[in-house]
Amino acid sequence: MGSLQLKSVRKSFGNVDVIKGIDLDVKDGEFVIFVGPSGCGKSTLLRIIAGLEDATSGSITIDGAEVVTVPPAKRGIAMVFQSYALYPHLTVKDNMGLGLKQAGAPKEEIEKRVSKASAMLSLEKYLARRPAELSGGQRQRVAIGRAIVREPKLFLFDEPLSNLDAALRVNTRLEIARLHRELKATMIYVTHDQVEAMTLADKIVVLDAGVIQQVGSPMELYNRPANLFVAGFIGSPG
Ligand code: ADP
Ligand code: MG
Repeated sequence: MGSLQLKSVRKSFGNVDVIKGIDLDVKDGEFVIFVGPSGCGKSTLLRIIAGLEDATSGSITIDGAEVVTVPPAKRGIAMVFQSYALYPHLTVKDNMGLGLKQAGAPKEEIEKRVSKASAMLSLEKYLARRPAELSGGQRQRVAIGRAIVREPKLFLFDEPLSNLDAALRVNTRLEIARLHRELKATMIYVTHDQVEAMTLADKIVVLDAGVIQQVGSPMELYNRPANLFVAGFIGSPG
């Protein structure tokens, strides 16, 4: 569970075309990376998949069902943002459980899932703290924990490591790779970091100006870049 299909997805803001006809197949359990220069439409595409933004046209199916009219909370998707987006007045535990609480889940179920996710992320010691009492790396782990608690079919990550220092970026990247193996969920991950792309991805989608330039495994893109743009982005000889 967690396959995704985009067909002819377009998005304009006013008369500016930002996403210009995207076709993409993501298989259940795949780790897919979107790379591309700043402003090329990566975040917009994630937000469209999540339902936070409406596509101007096109079709989006998850596990074969059209979701264009399905509200974000009903898509089985959880998104992790660069800025963590935690509630400052809530404890770690309440931040992680909030989505389930809003969905009306019973208290025991929320407790069970929060404690499981906090164990996966070694956050047990911090459950009573508020975000201001945590480091950046810990805050991002809480945001990832909050996503796990919802048991989504599909995780969306928008440059989740960009605000972390270099050492923490490596650790958190390895942690996300481990979670992908353990949860067997589908993950779509935006980055502009080649190392993240090459090490995490089953499949890399190279975007430029709202258009897919190439889709392939890291080695395919490295060995056979479709054009100079891809070669330059992946760092291969071309
Ligand atoms: P990326 O994440 O690849 O850096 P974005 O998806 O954030 O790019 O943005 C793609 C383009 O769409 C940019 O030119 C940006 O200015 C524009 N854009 C994004 N959101 C909006 C919006 N709500 N209104 C108008 N333009 C937007
Ligand atoms: Mg972005």
